[in-house]
Amino acid sequence: MTRMLIVGPAGSGKGTQSKRISEDLGIVAISTGDIFRVNIKEQTELGREAQGYVDAGDLVPDSVTNRMVEDRLTWEDAKNGFLLDGYPRNRTQVAALDEMLSRLDVSLDVVLELTADREELIMRLKKRAEIEGREDDADEGAIRRRLEIFDSETAPMIAEYDARGLVRRVDGLGPMDEVNARIMEALKS
Ligand code: AMP
Repeated sequence: MTRMLIVGPAGSGKGTQSKRISEDLGIVAISTGDIFRVNIKEQTELGREAQGYVDAGDLVPDSVTNRMVEDRLTWEDAKNGFLLDGYPRNRTQVAALDEMLSRLDVSLDVVLELTADREELIMRLKKRAEIEGREDDADEGAIRRRLEIFDSETAPMIAEYDARGLVRRVDGLGPMDEVNARIMEALKS
């Protein structure tokens, strides 16, 4: 059983790789971005609350996001391990996750960081905008904002997990299968 996070900037391949890891390890992948997008599409109350932030590339407020994850982690399918994709994104969310896990009496095994250089990320996001039609990929301002938030809030958060000895770093550049093989190797060690 594995409880893990996948972290990395927008366009680093988190979503794609987390689906593969989820199949390979038999654990549920929970993507906060996907949950927001579904709720926005269906115009639920949560979706209406999140929409402005998601479209602009800003973080949805921590209180909303933390509550949503806390609920999701109590579902039956998360009892045998999970992979959180896109959460936590800052240190406040790390503190909230620490509390949730301690209430559930479980702990994290590993934090997988996917890396990729800026030029590559921007190129991938533009390509994805054409294929998936995500508003936040099509808008240059939203792309810039997401990368800025990664640098100012998410990178220091990863440093915190690094200090706990949990981070395994994998180069996210290259074909999907190759990146997947690197990840599986990194998870073994
Ligand atoms: P993602 O699919 O992970 O790139 O997330 C898309 C968007 O959803 C982000 O730009 C944020 O607006 C929102 N979002 C996803 N995860 C979080 C989070 N942990 N905290 C706040 N906002 C989030």
